[in-house]
Amino acid sequence: EKLGVALVGLGYYSTDLLAPALQLTKHCELKGIVTGTPEKAKKWQAQYRIADKNIYDYKSFDQLANNPDIDVVYIVLPPSMHAAYAIRAARAGKHVWCEKPMAMTVAECKSMIDACNSNKVKLSIGYRLHHEPVTQQIIQFGKEKRYGAIRKVTAFAGYVDNRTNHWKQTKSLGGGCMYDMGVYPLNAARYITGEEPVAVTAKQSTTRPEIYKDVDETIHFNLEFPSGALAECEASFGKDMNHMKTECTKGWYKLEPFSAYNGVQGTASDGLVIKPAITEIPYEQVKQMDEDALAIMQNKTVLVPGEEGLRDIRVVEAIYSAVRQNTRIAIA
Ligand code: NAD
Repeated sequence: EKLGVALVGLGYYSTDLLAPALQLTKHCELKGIVTGTPEKAKKWQAQYRIADKNIYDYKSFDQLANNPDIDVVYIVLPPSMHAAYAIRAARAGKHVWCEKPMAMTVAECKSMIDACNSNKVKLSIGYRLHHEPVTQQIIQFGKEKRYGAIRKVTAFAGYVDNRTNHWKQTKSLGGGCMYDMGVYPLNAARYITGEEPVAVTAKQSTTRPEIYKDVDETIHFNLEFPSGALAECEASFGKDMNHMKTECTKGWYKLEPFSAYNGVQGTASDGLVIKPAITEIPYEQVKQMDEDALAIMQNKTVLVPGEEGLRDIRVVEAIYSAVRQNTRIAIA
């Protein structure tokens, strides 16, 4: 038996990754869609054989409450819309999967967690790398101190985005490189060290002010952890980059790429080659959704709960404060 998933927002990620992944999942399947574009509804319905009664728009969204075909609502909208739709889904009694970044503010994240708790539904954030075996291996290195105590993590992630009118370039929709790409190095620094940062410094820079007038194009940020470990990170919409290095007291390990859809891989100072067993796209999303579906079916804790998304947004808020005030910000 499979859980029925409804995708909300049929943009790039739903179309190219999640819907194909839901054809391969064992414990969940694509049963419904929420879209504001009737032509998309028709196309998806034909391609994925979705029943008429399982097609919603943003007005009929709350009627999901009356649809037993749908167990999980997966929010794949611009970040400014995550909180409102996650809360409406929870109130409709559906489990919630929500894409990264979880929301714009800590307050929004808390209200999403509260809504899911009070409606007794589970909340998972789409941090697919937590489900990815190479990443899980390096998280284990940190726990076992395989290369000694971690002293410094360097993690950079970016790509060149030349669009002008997309939500990624629009502040009111949740754009900006820190929210979009920045959560990858930030989340990595947290899962690699297993610690929460206590202070941040950050600088913003822009090479194309004609595109990046409303939101940040590049942010370089530093995190200080309680153990004394440091992280130096960068997120950008202006540079292609995806690499991570962790320097420890007895050696180092690195991944390049560290946050891609496939082929997360790397090496370590002792010659170890860290390689993925499977590299087919959309392997990561299949594993993520199957594991999240099983957690729901078995009533177990999900691997990436709302609290994990919130911890990143807490740091993102501090990073934006550090940029605005041009000073080191301690995180309470
Ligand atoms: P996209 O722009 O391609 O799709 C967004 C969808 O939202 C579109 O179908 C758009 O029509 C719809 N939408 C509804 N109301 C809208 C409004 N008022 N303004 C703009 N769009 C509106 O974006 P995407 O790349 O698919 O990203 C969607 C979410 O998925 C984001 O949160 C993003 O961070 C996340 N994402 C995650 C990953 C990952 O690897 N986990 C990868 C890509 C995207």
